[in-house]
Amino acid sequence: MDYIFDLISQPFSTIPHHFDTSGVERYVAKGSPYHIAIHEVDVEDNADSYVDMHEHDFDEINIILGESLVYEFCIDLQKTIVQSPKVFVIPKNVKHSQKVLRGKGTFICVYMKKKE
Ligand SMILES: [Zn+2]
Repeated sequence: MDYIFDLISQPFSTIPHHFDTSGVERYVAKGSPYHIAIHEVDVEDNADSYVDMHEHDFDEINIILGESLVYEFCIDLQKTIVQSPKVFVIPKNVKHSQKVLRGKGTFICVYMKKKE
């Protein structure tokens, strides 16, 4: 059992429902039993969306850190604009999407799903 994992660069376009966008660098914990992705964000104005509305059968945790990072969350068809620091807990089977509007900071995404 490993306890420590490296973060490796892995573009959005390598995962379903996601697209590459400028101003967001994505890293994932290689070999971790859970999905852990770190996004280094530096966007001046309205980045293109990097994820479609989607849902899944496991919980997801989003953590937004930084002094001025502004995200638009859509959860259960309701749009909310939030500024860092914030934590979102997205229950399983609830439709959601996220979009960075502006700012500089870190967005962390954890799926509470064991990898096979
Ligand atoms: Zn999701």
